[in-house]
Amino acid sequence: MAHIYLSSPHMSEEGYEQEYIKEAFDTNWIAPLGKNVNEFEKELPAAVGATAATALSSGTAAIHLALKAAGVKEGDVVFCQDLTFSATANPIVYEKAIPVFIDSDYETWNMSPDALERAFEKYPNVKAVLPVHLYGLPANMERIMEICRRHGVAVIEDAAESLGSYDHGQHTGTFGDYGAFSFNGNKIITTSGGGMLVCNLEEEKAKERMKKVLFWATQAREPARHYEHKEIGYNYRMSNIVAGIGRGQLKVLKQRVEKKRQIFAYYQEHLGDLEGISFMPLREETHANCWLSVIQLAPDGPVRPLDVVIALEKGDIDSRPVWKPMHLQPVFAGCDYIDNGNVSAALFRQGVCLPSDTKMTEEEQSRICEIIRGLWK
Ligand SMILES: *Cc1c(COP(=O)(O)O)cnc(C)c1O
Repeated sequence: MAHIYLSSPHMSEEGYEQEYIKEAFDTNWIAPLGKNVNEFEKELPAAVGATAATALSSGTAAIHLALKAAGVKEGDVVFCQDLTFSATANPIVYEKAIPVFIDSDYETWNMSPDALERAFEKYPNVKAVLPVHLYGLPANMERIMEICRRHGVAVIEDAAESLGSYDHGQHTGTFGDYGAFSFNGNKIITTSGGGMLVCNLEEEKAKERMKKVLFWATQAREPARHYEHKEIGYNYRMSNIVAGIGRGQLKVLKQRVEKKRQIFAYYQEHLGDLEGISFMPLREETHANCWLSVIQLAPDGPVRPLDVVIALEKGDIDSRPVWKPMHLQPVFAGCDYIDNGNVSAALFRQGVCLPSDTKMTEEEQSRICEIIRGLWK
């Protein structure tokens, strides 16, 4: 039996990606610039409803340059979602700013607006707020934006896992000032590696900010014939080959979201009756991409998360724990954390991400459910 992945690359059956790559080869634009980059930079913001965008080498680079664009400097405080992948928080430290981690709530699994309110009381001079749409579940942007607007603080959404996720019909990543997307190998669409920063400010301002982001992403070269530098730059631009893959993948995004949602519904249907099991919250007013299907196992229930991971591993099937909260990470040990009843730690302890590969057949998913059900016998 074939290995079952957590979430693996899934190129279009039509071969769109290869057509765009071929075009790049035929025109010899094998560089971090060219038609695919320019077009992808128009197609993605058009698809999500953002004002302007810059194609970058990774989602991490997008978060990093969003922090710079928002004016975050050494010693500034940035409120960052606690329950996330370390790539959300690391760029805060690249800029020598200070992350303060904000707990989640059970309704969204993302940044708790109540904890955020309390964080503002403690750190009124905060420079930016970084919520995440974890596993494609939209954060409560309505309340987060209301709070941040009231305080006049910039919002950067980490939408690395939420391409194709909407809240009240609006795409995630377009509520705040900036949104960061990732096309890493296991994301809902992939370019092998890559990212996109979108800006949602009014048009003139958005274009100006993205121009500055492009400048930083291409080594901060001043407009002079010789190589003149007044600022530290980065090599963060997306390659034209990679952008070609992205353009092709964007065409099948809707299909991928549909399949991911089917996978989640299948687990709900076939595992929902097991004692102590519950599922990640799909809020009614949202349309989540269900990038990964995540379950919770009650602490007093008969089966522990690790039992599930090990049983699946024996069947050559991938699964993984929920992200370990940042305030529990040794590297962020000295950082402050605003808790909301330690929701992020509970979600981590009790959670399992089940295989959510869009190439998975119904037969394979049935086998996964059988293995899991076996633990309850
Ligand atoms: C994948 C991911 C990132 C980073 O994206 P890369 O393209 O891998 O740099 C950031 N935040 C979250 C929540 C992610 O899952």
